[in-house]
Amino acid sequence: MAEKTLNVLEIAREQVKHACDKLGADPAVYEILKNPMRVMEVSFPVKMDDGTTKSFTGYRSQHNNACGPFKGGLRFHPAVCMDEVKALSTWMTFKCSVVGIPYGGGKGGMAIDPRDYSQTELEKIARGFARAIAPIIGEKEDIPAPDVNTNGQIMSWMVDEYAQATGEFQPGVFTGKPVDFYGSLARTEATGYGVATMAMEAAKKLNIDLNNVTVALQGFGNVGSYAGMYIEEAGAKVVAVGDHTGTIYNENGINIKALMEYNKVNRGVKGFEGAEHTEDNILTMDVDILMPCALENQLTSENAGDVKAKIISEGANGPTTPEADKILSKNGTTLVPDILANSGGVTVSYFEWVQNLSRYNWSFEEVQTKQKKLMVDAFEDIWSLAKEYEVDMRTAAYMMSIKRIADAMKMRGWYS
Ligand code: GLU
Repeated sequence: MAEKTLNVLEIAREQVKHACDKLGADPAVYEILKNPMRVMEVSFPVKMDDGTTKSFTGYRSQHNNACGPFKGGLRFHPAVCMDEVKALSTWMTFKCSVVGIPYGGGKGGMAIDPRDYSQTELEKIARGFARAIAPIIGEKEDIPAPDVNTNGQIMSWMVDEYAQATGEFQPGVFTGKPVDFYGSLARTEATGYGVATMAMEAAKKLNIDLNNVTVALQGFGNVGSYAGMYIEEAGAKVVAVGDHTGTIYNENGINIKALMEYNKVNRGVKGFEGAEHTEDNILTMDVDILMPCALENQLTSENAGDVKAKIISEGANGPTTPEADKILSKNGTTLVPDILANSGGVTVSYFEWVQNLSRYNWSFEEVQTKQKKLMVDAFEDIWSLAKEYEVDMRTAAYMMSIKRIADAMKMRGWYS
């Protein structure tokens, strides 16, 4: 089965269409949801360290705000383009709806590799981007957050720049900030914690004892590292980790905390002394649980048939193509889809925002317990819906969220 397309925007639309059809939704629903409500492309100049001036381009896509302000990260990665940002913003709309938080979906980014710039340059780029999108964002309008290669420091510069540009200090206009600067406890861990929690829920359903389980992890950034740490804490053995530097393997389990320390210094997993280098493909290894926590289009029609894992929990956005979905579903793989599995990040972003608006701080336990409850409840609902309609969990997750968004759009009078 050849891949119809690897264009992520077309893939996102296909997923939405498929679920709208299963749901028997009014045709107006897909008609509205197939395009973002607003997209913005900006270019701004930055004076580089060597004195030259360079122009940088960034994007912000605001997909849908029927359920609340647009919400979603800002990505700094060479592959960022308008279509990718539009697709990612579409996924955010459904992700927020899956866990029932009062947001719509947005996403932004720039096609840069932050490693190519000094800290001073990076700060100027981040500030330039924040200033350029300031007219369309705001605490109650559109709330960006970190995504691939962005972090709390970048969010802090952006809050500051936004305050200077608008004259309004709104800490809640960006989430994913450092704990010492209006951030929330348990936000850094949130996405990975959720990915691991969803894998554990799936294991429970399949009567799989986590103490006898092996895990392969693709990606060792913020999401992958914490997903690995929490699943290891629950008793599973993470035997393989792969990132842009290579793949490492240890049949007795890789010590994830030690690998996190190593990764901080070496910016990659390659060369870690607690495991061996392997040329095997991380996605098709003989393990029980696979957690793809890197980028889009990793599981495709080319390799899905070789996947041995019984459970997949998607830490990345869009790691599986629709063709791969069909193959995995036919082979009986339990796949917890991105819009549920990685919703922990935006869920705790929501808690951070609530704390910001009320100028009050919650404890780590309070935040994490609330996150777990929202996600496990959503998992249960989607699991039941999937059984009821005899569809995979991705389709069920879309059905559940589309229903909520469609109801909101109808009540607001966007269609009748
Ligand atoms: N970038 C994360 C995501 O893709 C988090 C978004 C947010 O916290 O707003 O879900």
